[in-house]
Amino acid sequence: MPMSDAFKQRLFPELERIAEHFGTPFHIYDEAGILDTGARLKEAFAGIEGFQEYYAVKALPNLKILELMKRMGFGFDCSSIPELVMARRVGAGPMEIMFTSNNTAPHEFTAAAADGGCILNLDDISLIAKVPEPFPELICFRYNPGPRRTGNVIIGNPVEAKYGVTHNQVVDAYRQARERGAKRFGLHTMVASNELDYTYMVETARMILEVAELVMNELGIRFEFVNIGGGFGIPYRPDDSPLDLARMSREITALFDDFRARHGQAPRMVMESGRWMTGPHGVLVTRAINHKDTYRRYIGVDACMSSLMRPAIYGAYHHIDVPGAEGRPTEVVDVVGSLCENNDKFAVQRELPRIEEGDLLVIHDTGAHGHAMGFQYNGRLRPQELLLRADGRVELIRRAETLDDYLATQTFEPRTLAL
Ligand SMILES: *Cc1c(COP(=O)(O)O)cnc(C)c1O
Repeated sequence: MPMSDAFKQRLFPELERIAEHFGTPFHIYDEAGILDTGARLKEAFAGIEGFQEYYAVKALPNLKILELMKRMGFGFDCSSIPELVMARRVGAGPMEIMFTSNNTAPHEFTAAAADGGCILNLDDISLIAKVPEPFPELICFRYNPGPRRTGNVIIGNPVEAKYGVTHNQVVDAYRQARERGAKRFGLHTMVASNELDYTYMVETARMILEVAELVMNELGIRFEFVNIGGGFGIPYRPDDSPLDLARMSREITALFDDFRARHGQAPRMVMESGRWMTGPHGVLVTRAINHKDTYRRYIGVDACMSSLMRPAIYGAYHHIDVPGAEGRPTEVVDVVGSLCENNDKFAVQRELPRIEEGDLLVIHDTGAHGHAMGFQYNGRLRPQELLLRADGRVELIRRAETLDDYLATQTFEPRTLAL
């Protein structure tokens, strides 16, 4: 199922009070659910020595959420300077930050090396020469298997992906990095997104260990860690089956045991889940403000795609509940926002209980790649974020954007260049 029953039981009885106090729309995240998922992940991979999750900051880049990750002992996967700065702000040390940028600019290398540095994950062999002195002692490369792996639904075919070094480049990449002074090594890949088939992740772990072995044999280096990336899927639809964490972790652990048996040592395993950690533990709450009967029946709500882009970008399904409407007859509707784009719809031709103006709608699974993807197009601003604390308090963790925020980048002393 999408949103858990436990989260529903914590949230739904208080929903109207929260909406009245803070106003709508808002995303609300479930601290207890996030902590529980983190504990389950650690437990599942406890058999791999040194296992660590590096939360993918882009999924839910909110400092209060990152604090929760830090509290669980997680590191951070960052790919931009603001993400790096946020990870450092919640206290992440150099070994707790992986900087996986691509098409990296010089000032990004400088930022990565600042404040004690971080684990630099290079996206291409040509970037080795562009890393400023001193070259980091620990270096990692992102590996792209190309035709060696078939594509995954969201991320696409690896051959068409702009990321990473190819199979034929990978040995040379480490050789050149060693020539520049690297002494410690990691290996990274990211080939899946929202993958619900656990065997795909097992194959990814097998692949990355084989590549590690290849480079070890060619260059005589040892890998401190391999990073299997993110991409663990969550069930967005009620009839999707969840990823089988138990079987996945058992089979991946066996691969590491096997590696250790053959080589007398094995790298640590690192992963960087975003969606799986927080996706199901967030919902978007919005109020129905209009309805309209034309060629279809439309329900207009007070949120729009600036709060949640996934349906518009990917045609993604997000389950919707209308608490309190359970007994009503159903009807088929489009649930829409106010933005002047016809893809500004949270649901298309969805059967829902009849919705009255004033009803609250709960749009599931917005805890990852939800608020974070929002934009300001059409002057539609991004909403507030709330955190339902495990002790029952509700905390505002990001205020809604204001007109002043929107105009801030156009408010400055005149600056012109005379030609
Ligand atoms: C987006 C991203 C992730 C997280 O992906 P999820 O699908 O949210 O798990 C991890 N690593 C990298 C390099 C990414 O770009």
